Amino acid sequence: EEPKVKYNRVLLKISGEALMGDQGYGLHPPTVARIAAEVKSVRDLGVEICMVIGGGNIFRGLQGSAQGMERTTADYMGMLATVMNALAMQAALEQLGVHTRVISAIPMDQVCEPYIRRRAVRHLEKKRVCIFAAGTGNPYFTTDTAATLRANEMACEAIFKGTKVDGVYDKDPKKHADATRYDTISYDEVLQRHLGVMDASAIALARDNNLPIIVFSLDEPGGFRGILAGHGTYTRVGG
Ligand code: UDP
Repeated sequence: EEPKVKYNRVLLKISGEALMGDQGYGLHPPTVARIAAEVKSVRDLGVEICMVIGGGNIFRGLQGSAQGMERTTADYMGMLATVMNALAMQAALEQLGVHTRVISAIPMDQVCEPYIRRRAVRHLEKKRVCIFAAGTGNPYFTTDTAATLRANEMACEAIFKGTKVDGVYDKDPKKHADATRYDTISYDEVLQRHLGVMDASAIALARDNNLPIIVFSLDEPGGFRGILAGHGTYTRVGG
């Protein structure tokens, strides 16, 4: 029997680095396939799913500009990197029989759909996984902010931020054995303590719209579905 789920529509945010496996760069197709299977297992619960994937496994604007590249150009390259990741995720989901749309903030009609809010909502109602690409379409932003923006626009009940650890800790749990995990924490505390859940503008945008952020481990098999079904460990920011 399928468990009862208290969410109807969520947004899953993952970094580009989540797709690179142990390679240190780029896309690792088996890792993309594994995450796609996690997404499918949640879609199979009847939950409507938005996704935002970063681009840091391929290119980050700040890296480019630190090496002398003009910042806005570097940021556009970062946005294009997110489109590649979105296409990889789309292909992996469709191999599992999940219907998807890649929806780009920067129109590129031969590759994917342009972002039209009402159209995206309709896709979700039809249970298509919507992968929002090219961030916000603007330089000087991040995909964390894009995730918060799209989650608000799509009226998602929460952002699920998949990371390497099972929540928000007071210090890096991979470096400090005595790090402790928060079960819940306020947006302001995340900001004041510089806890690095998401960048500050994304946290503020979530706070101002009362959008909870669930930080959980993407490395835990079945973790995403487990939390939606009411078990597992995670940190809830706000809400
Ligand atoms: N980016 C941007 N505007 C946006 C979203 C992303 O300019 O609205 C660029 C920015 O250069 C960023 C890159 O795209 O470094 C990749 O996104 P991000 O760093 O958020 O990826 P992640 O760290 O999640 O992999």
